[in-house]
Amino acid sequence: MQALVWKDGKQLCLEERPKPKIKSENDVVIKIKYTGICGTDLQVVKGNETIVPDIIMGHEAVGEVVEKGKDVTEYKIGDMVLIDPNQYCCDCDYCKRGLTNFCTGYNGGLKIAGINIDGTFAEYFACHKRYVYKIPQGVSLEAAVLIEPMACVLNNLRAADIKEHESVLVLGSGPMGALCQMIAKNNAGFVAATENSEYRRGECEKFCDWILSSDALTVEEIRKRNNGRLFDVIIDTVGNQLENALTLCEKNGRIIPMGMNKVYSCNVKPYQFINMGIKLVGASEYNMLFNDTIEAARRYPELASIVTGKYAITDYIQAFNDILGYNMESGDRKEIMQMKAVFEF
Ligand SMILES: [Zn+2]
Ligand SMILES: [Zn+2]
Repeated sequence: MQALVWKDGKQLCLEERPKPKIKSENDVVIKIKYTGICGTDLQVVKGNETIVPDIIMGHEAVGEVVEKGKDVTEYKIGDMVLIDPNQYCCDCDYCKRGLTNFCTGYNGGLKIAGINIDGTFAEYFACHKRYVYKIPQGVSLEAAVLIEPMACVLNNLRAADIKEHESVLVLGSGPMGALCQMIAKNNAGFVAATENSEYRRGECEKFCDWILSSDALTVEEIRKRNNGRLFDVIIDTVGNQLENALTLCEKNGRIIPMGMNKVYSCNVKPYQFINMGIKLVGASEYNMLFNDTIEAARRYPELASIVTGKYAITDYIQAFNDILGYNMESGDRKEIMQMKAVFEF
């Protein structure tokens, strides 16, 4: 099968790989239908995130069960399922405390498809039945491929503890930002967002109350639109906005860094947190959130509309260029042309 790999830890490369096989009687083989390109994949390409070299990338996917071990009674051949890429070990100290997101079972960490083991940017994927979930009736495959990122968003929004009367600012309106806005709007009093791509601002208008480019967002404008107040909750889906967020956060507010950027650092004054009562909340990975997210997905019919592009795996360069907003080969800037792009098999 063709698979998109992170060749030598340096570049994307389409390679021929053997079809994965069942390793235990509890494993399933899934024929991938859709697999999403995630912000993490973009950060890898940009050099802000490292993954194990030469593995197959991809960690958001839905597909059909085509093969299963003898002990898999929960799924039938032909069932449509979604994949949890985070393969917690169940045996380490953290897993035994119910903190599977902090699992140390694989080289001191969590085993994650597309990050440190082969992932889903290929026609087939095999894993233990524990890491797959049935897609219920009424949830389309396009919506289902967003369940994994939505679990991540739900985890962060729960950590933010948003109250009905509060105002929320989502920095960045890529797919994660859009999901944050969509769910926050269901809970909060007022939801604003920033986005510098005109295309994405247009796509996200339906998810929030106010969306504008990042340089148009000033303290003065915010106070005008938000009853004289700053934001109670700020979610940074960009990953390098902490300093900026501190200037826009209301007293007693929460800032949630969410976008993955291992390179970014900044100077903060602890005094500011004390004086303003601001909390900096790190939510970690989601922990056992797939069933909740699948059920929550049913109340957001607009969810599937976040998938705007479907590409053949052979068109991976085009797909990445369209989301990155620049040409990977020449470095030339171009318009961002997609919200969530997926590979279709
Ligand atoms: Zn992801
Ligand atoms: Zn573990």
